[in-house]
Amino acid sequence: MKSRKLLMIPGPIEFEPEVLQAMGAATTSHVAPNFINSFGNSLELMRKVWQSKNGQPFIIAGSGTLAMDMAAANLIEPNDNILVISTGYFGERYANICKRYGANVTILTTDVGGVVSLETIEKELSKVNYKLLTLTHVDTSTGVLVNPEPIAKLAQKYNTLSILDGVCSVAGEEIKQDEWGIDVVLTASQKAIGVPPGLALLIASKKAIEIFKNRKTPVQNYYADFTNWLPIMQAYENRTPSYFGTPPVNLIAALEVSLQQIISEGMENRFMRHKKIATAFREAMLTLGMELLPISKNYAANTLTAVYYPKRIDANAFLKHIGNNNVIVAGGLLPSHKTQYFRVGHMGCVNNNDLIATIVAIEASLIACKYKFEIGAGIKTALNILNT
Ligand SMILES: *Cc1c(COP(=O)(O)O)cnc(C)c1O
Repeated sequence: MKSRKLLMIPGPIEFEPEVLQAMGAATTSHVAPNFINSFGNSLELMRKVWQSKNGQPFIIAGSGTLAMDMAAANLIEPNDNILVISTGYFGERYANICKRYGANVTILTTDVGGVVSLETIEKELSKVNYKLLTLTHVDTSTGVLVNPEPIAKLAQKYNTLSILDGVCSVAGEEIKQDEWGIDVVLTASQKAIGVPPGLALLIASKKAIEIFKNRKTPVQNYYADFTNWLPIMQAYENRTPSYFGTPPVNLIAALEVSLQQIISEGMENRFMRHKKIATAFREAMLTLGMELLPISKNYAANTLTAVYYPKRIDANAFLKHIGNNNVIVAGGLLPSHKTQYFRVGHMGCVNNNDLIATIVAIEASLIACKYKFEIGAGIKTALNILNT
């Protein structure tokens, strides 16, 4: 009997065998020709996935939080006004990062499961001269999806830079960095990019690089300083070796494989697949009588779903039974609601069978928890959507 459990959390996710094989290949020198080529190809492929011809990609060893930190460290100077548009836990984190670099931070938030309205954002931008704003594309704590395009356009109107935390969205939700005019789009390897944890990835616009180059004060973070990394990224893209800090050779080899797979699926196809799988999962949960954190389906993410536990159910027993059925899902993350909901990641190489197996495990767990529902109803709903 297979003993491995299906990993359905919002990162790390299930990875393609070819990606894991690349991870396991013999480590070469970071200046070996095959590695230089892998690094250069990965930088070029990032531009395609981000849909940014003009931006400057960075591939750095670290987690998604480093990518957030890096964007803030390089663009913020003490006393800059920064606007954080928050839809949960990771918005709060971004505010804390910005404060660390001496910024005056204003946070716009809303009820749990909601989004901040464009009117509220515009009112704030017209009141104060903000150097930059941050927004979370998909907040992994709430499963809320924000539409970045109109916010990026507002930022341009008020001459404000925009940073998109796309850790739970890049390569899963539609992003057109150049067309939408977003200055930094950042992510990490272990989510929809489909590579084991350990890479911070971001693309900075020409304007962002310009603002960085015209800083009056040094970057207050040695490791994250673009000054150190910009020449390295440029060198590898020109297929020449360079050194600042040893790159994670195996992870970058795996990144190249995964980015190639993403491009060969096609960005539009990939976004459609995520949308269909997410719709099937959400509708299945609703059919089972459960409720979602996002207040409206219009802003429910396609990369993960956050679901309230049914009333009068023992949450720990529910999660344990899902695990006993060989599927791993995640608990809550938002401190105020942590014990009230669970999260299921459905991004990257997730397929219909993974999704059905997950819904079966959830139904089996509901039976074990003596919850009253029509057995198979969730599966039926999901199959109907997946087969259209
Ligand atoms: C996961 C996540 C992060 C943090 O990434 P780490 O790799 O855990 O540091 C930041 N923002 C969002 C939206 C995330 O989903």
